[in-house]
Amino acid sequence: MSGCRERFFCDEMLARLGRWLRAAGYDVVIAVPGAEDRQLLQQARAEQRHFLTRDRKLLECHNAAGRVTLLTANQLAGQFAELSEHFAINWLCRPFSRCLECNSELQMASAEAMPRLPPGVRCEDATMFYCPRCDQLYWDGSHVKRMRRMLEHLSRGEWDANVEQDILQMNSEQSE
Ligand SMILES: [Zn+2]
Repeated sequence: MSGCRERFFCDEMLARLGRWLRAAGYDVVIAVPGAEDRQLLQQARAEQRHFLTRDRKLLECHNAAGRVTLLTANQLAGQFAELSEHFAINWLCRPFSRCLECNSELQMASAEAMPRLPPGVRCEDATMFYCPRCDQLYWDGSHVKRMRRMLEHLSRGEWDANVEQDILQMNSEQSE
């Protein structure tokens, strides 16, 4: 099974796709709103990232060649399909090894983090990870299990009906 060697840079309009790539373990920068195209391209080039965009104008930038991949689909399912035409994405390469919010590599949380789990989560069963940068806590609860199932669907190329419901909202919904 190949690793997650490819690195990506998503424009704002592809933020949800970018978060799914992070869930799979890929190193993904998501553009901050309002930044200039030229700057974004420069960053993507400097960091050797494939620039994924829905903005056709970006293809016309002088330093876009070989760096920018245009995705045209509005819906996430279509974007998954288009992405797979350009890259051999391994959706199961390193699931939940990165923070969905900020892209940092997660670390195993110690027992001190247990009290931060919502009531009802069985602490003794939970493997917990935290983000050293933004302090987001992740654990193998029902939400993460649903997301793992989604990644399994994606790895089989099943991105039609299953993918339409985007379940990637870790902050507010993660609970047992
Ligand atoms: Zn984070």
